[in-house]
Amino acid sequence: MKNISILGATGSIGTSTLDVIRRNQTQFSVTALSAGRNLPLLKNQIEEFGPKVVSVIDKKHADKLREMLGRSCETEILSGVEGLREAATLREVDMVVSAIVGAAGLVPTVDAIEAGKGIALANKETMVMAGRLVVETALSCGVKIIPVDSEHSAIFQCISGHNKKDIRRIILTASGGPFFKLERDKLSAVTPDDALKHPKWEMGKKITIDSATMMNKGLEVIEAKWLFGVDIERIEIIVHPQSIVHSMVEYSDGSLIAQLGLPDMKGPISYALFYPEREEVVEPALNLAEVEKIEFFPPDFDMFPSIGLAYGAVKRGGSMPAVLNASNEVAVAAFLSREIGFTDIPRVVEKTLDLHVPFEPESLDDVLRADEWGRAKAQKIIKDSKEGS
Ligand code: NAD
Ligand code: MG
Repeated sequence: MKNISILGATGSIGTSTLDVIRRNQTQFSVTALSAGRNLPLLKNQIEEFGPKVVSVIDKKHADKLREMLGRSCETEILSGVEGLREAATLREVDMVVSAIVGAAGLVPTVDAIEAGKGIALANKETMVMAGRLVVETALSCGVKIIPVDSEHSAIFQCISGHNKKDIRRIILTASGGPFFKLERDKLSAVTPDDALKHPKWEMGKKITIDSATMMNKGLEVIEAKWLFGVDIERIEIIVHPQSIVHSMVEYSDGSLIAQLGLPDMKGPISYALFYPEREEVVEPALNLAEVEKIEFFPPDFDMFPSIGLAYGAVKRGGSMPAVLNASNEVAVAAFLSREIGFTDIPRVVEKTLDLHVPFEPESLDDVLRADEWGRAKAQKIIKDSKEGS
């Protein structure tokens, strides 16, 4: 029996993780859950899975949740960053599913690594912000990080049993998002509702907007660099609208190895939870005879400048990727609240990066300092642009 803690239990990845656990209750037990503010869903999850500990965003929500659950509930309710850190490091927990969205996922994920927990990593921002430190910590604590991001799960599977020195290229597939076929001059007028209609994947709002700008793929390039220890020059992107080929690895002899599957996150989640075993599923698998076509296109760096910004940030290194991530989070939130337009998102990120003097973070505090700097600067850029217009 593996004891699981899910950080971000009420989100898209969190609920899919519980779906996988629900069908495998003899093999997994839910020891801890954490969430932000969605108390009704969290209450249902507590009643169904009976975790020992639950943590929510703040004390007010913790009080409300206790009231909703009633006195007979034995789950301990915690709150805030301290509660999150407790949920990530409980002695009984074997594996932590890191599925909070954004920079808030970094600290509890590193805590879990330091506590020696197995990590199923969905929170790509952890790797973008602090890749080098996270990899070093995992190595020194003897912790294996199993990716949940579908592309990275694919690559993880494609490199297993091969020599790293033989890898020529890692090729990340991208669906292209909802605007892949849009005429370029229409991009500036798209609304949050348009951008939230992803053609292939059902995900949280932030990653759905990142998919529309293609910043998601840029973040994934950085995530791949750190997870697999491969130079950025060897990591490429290819647009594949059907989202059937989840990614590929090319070896020195020209051989390409790909992993295929339906576009359903339960696949990579199940892979990470069961690793090194595999789940036996009864549901229908991908029927290749029913796939009408499998297409590939080069990414459009001009239409989607976020991709180039991500490559640029990781090439400059140090604190740059943390600032890229922070300014992107601020810009995406501003777009969702209709303060800025869609094409302003990469503009805000680019301006923030231009103003940043990178330094090499030696600690998590240094990374958080860069994150804070990037947020404040991006907010100022947005405020100044509103006042100027
Ligand atoms: P989501 O918005 O659906 O869920 C986020 C979860 O985090 C929720 O449970 C929310 O309550 C919690 N949360 C948010 N802010 C918090 C905070 N400050 N403190 C504590 N909890 C907080 O997001 P998602 O789509 O499930 O994505 C989660 C992560 O997984 C992201 O990093 C995303 O990039 C990555 N990911 C998601 C998918 C997907 O299909 N959804 C695929 C690959 C990677
Ligand atoms: Mg992905």
